[in-house]
Amino acid sequence: MQPTGKIHIGNYIGALSVWAREQDRFDGIFCVVNLHALTVPDSIDPAALHEKTLETAAIYLASGIDPKKSCIYIQSTVAEHAELSWILTCLAPLGWLERMTQYKAKSALKETVGAGLLSYPILMAADILLYDAQLVPVGHDQKQHVEFTRDLASRFNNRFGPVFTLPEPMIRKVGARIMGLDDPDQKMSKSIGEMKAGHSIGIMDHPDVIKKAVKSAVTDSGREVDFDNAGKGVRNLLTIYQAVTNCTDDQLRSHFADKGYGFLKSEIIEAVREALHPVREETLRLLQERSYLEKIVAEGAEKVRVSAREKMRAVKEAVGINF
Ligand code: AMP
Repeated sequence: MQPTGKIHIGNYIGALSVWAREQDRFDGIFCVVNLHALTVPDSIDPAALHEKTLETAAIYLASGIDPKKSCIYIQSTVAEHAELSWILTCLAPLGWLERMTQYKAKSALKETVGAGLLSYPILMAADILLYDAQLVPVGHDQKQHVEFTRDLASRFNNRFGPVFTLPEPMIRKVGARIMGLDDPDQKMSKSIGEMKAGHSIGIMDHPDVIKKAVKSAVTDSGREVDFDNAGKGVRNLLTIYQAVTNCTDDQLRSHFADKGYGFLKSEIIEAVREALHPVREETLRLLQERSYLEKIVAEGAEKVRVSAREKMRAVKEAVGINF
């Protein structure tokens, strides 16, 4: 997760909650990708970036990622991410990068963009390939980047020998793409959420702010929830409710049958509060324990560095640059 903007319920549902849920089944490696946060240099505020990076690590812990089971660390503290990224950059066709949906969307809003924005998926590929990750638990918006990673890994393996494991995206069925509350045609986004009240439900938002945002959420022109014919706004609200309560389609249908949008919204406010309030409280508590947080990310980095170094040795040997 990139430590920029306002971390929101889409990040929680699409990524964090899955990471926490799956950590008993897999060896989880979760870093705060602060090098990715440099891809839009105009918006870098060094002091804020530093703070937000630790806050993001605190949110990982508060969401239930257990440092005894999984590794949590900060990307910039394991230099192999950047090192592998360069080698992969030399192998990545420009056309593949230019085709990335996220790059096209982000660059369309700007007059000029830095090379980092274009090569963002290569750094992400390095994050994944460095550890022979088999599964990459992400929201729907990152599926294309995981596919890119597979293609790049195949390209490397074909050219230099079987060094990398080809990863698969792991995407939840319900909630992999939460939309903006103010505009259900647009994905809920960290940067928009920071600029615009009512767009997102922030993990660190006060419950009163969340209440206001949900109350003003766009619904449909009707008045009652029609599960099977819900428009985009109501569908998004139902998805949020279903994802945070883990209820089935049938339970969701009967819970809201013939109920008005007022009821739907008050139920969501309550369900979201139940899910996010403990995360917010625990994050705030952890932020008071700086030395503990710093110790956790330092230990996480220490652990993953062993695999990262081993993989880089194999990569360098395959390419002919090991000395
Ligand atoms: P990022 O905002 O790029 O740092 O995303 C961190 C994680 O949250 C990634 O796995 C994304 O795919 C996921 N994510 C971001 N936005 C959403 C969203 N609106 N709905 C579901 N998952 C999301």
